[in-house]
Amino acid sequence: MNTKEVIAQYDKYVMNTYTRIPCVIVKGKGLKVWDLDGNEYLDFFPGWAVSGLGHCHPKVVNAVRSYLKKIIHVPNNYYNMLQGKLAQEIIENSFEGKVFFCNSGAEANEGAIKLVRSYGNSSGGRYEIITMENSFHGRTLTTITATAQPKYQKDFEPLPAGFKYVDFNDIKAIENAITDKTIAIMLEPIQGEGGINVADQVYIKALRGLCNRKDMILIFDEVQTGMGRTGKMFGFEHYGILPDIMTLAKSLGGGLPIGAMVAGKKFTDVLKPGMHASTFGGSPVVCSASLAVFEAIKKEGLLSNTVKMGEYLVGKLNELKKKKSIIKEIRGKGLMIGIELTVPGKEIVEKCFKERLLINCTHDKVLRIMPGMIVTKKQIDRAVEILDKVM
Ligand SMILES: *Cc1c(COP(=O)(O)O)cnc(C)c1O
Repeated sequence: MNTKEVIAQYDKYVMNTYTRIPCVIVKGKGLKVWDLDGNEYLDFFPGWAVSGLGHCHPKVVNAVRSYLKKIIHVPNNYYNMLQGKLAQEIIENSFEGKVFFCNSGAEANEGAIKLVRSYGNSSGGRYEIITMENSFHGRTLTTITATAQPKYQKDFEPLPAGFKYVDFNDIKAIENAITDKTIAIMLEPIQGEGGINVADQVYIKALRGLCNRKDMILIFDEVQTGMGRTGKMFGFEHYGILPDIMTLAKSLGGGLPIGAMVAGKKFTDVLKPGMHASTFGGSPVVCSASLAVFEAIKKEGLLSNTVKMGEYLVGKLNELKKKKSIIKEIRGKGLMIGIELTVPGKEIVEKCFKERLLINCTHDKVLRIMPGMIVTKKQIDRAVEILDKVM
């Protein structure tokens, strides 16, 4: 089949829920991908950070390949060899507690919401969760409700009750929104979809204090910021506090679908047998991929590369900003970087694609750049050269 035929097949049989670029990707290696016509692209936006180690990282490929030969799926009414091992790895790299495995970011957030609802119901009938304007927490009915962006909600009312929205980075707004029904505050340490908005240090410290005083649960949605993206294994580490619950997905599986909800020790026994489940959750093949991701990040020094390359990229982009009046601001942490423009970014993304550079635009005017953690200076130079030309 050629590109046209593949697209025609989608048009006929696949629900039209995505705006797609007319490009059939057939192969990936590191930061490079190839389409069906043999064109090579430099990927600076690998699946919303899913391929955080680059495409087809050899450690992930080998781990998956060797496990596939043993068994593919082990149901959760038995034990498998890797689920406990991966949970241990996550806990030892984050905070004391326990893990629930599922298959996506939305599902991890659903699990977190169910956990806090259950805890709240047994501690004074509290159920309200406060989330942030411009947040993004997924596409299930409850997670679009947590997502305080009307564009994701408007076609699907009535929405589940119990959510309240406040401005991001505004501690006063939260203090005013809290009632005797409030059980949790949920946020991304860096809003991805919302335009790469970084939470302030004082704000996060104040949230932690507030949750401690009022026995409320602090949930960090680290679906996009987790697994080294920001230069630390998890985004919360930038703030010198611990969340009570953290959700993960995206790059956790090195490209394979996995989600995790991590609860601190006070909340590990809220969900009891029968209260929550996921058929595929923590299956050994995806766990083997995820264990390989942790190993690669540690053994290949990818956190320090992320910090170094992030600084290099931001430096280059700030130089570019001096030349281009359409660049308003460069922001982010590690390799999670936003370029806020004074104009819509759609056309720039399309022109970059024609120059064989893959990036993204979110929130209309913010170019989102998140190359794999293995990125090199040479690749950054090339990407910035293309941005320069296109702008
Ligand atoms: C992508 C994303 C989600 C949703 O993850 P899915 O795997 O698409 O369900 C949730 N929260 C954040 C912060 C995300 O970036």
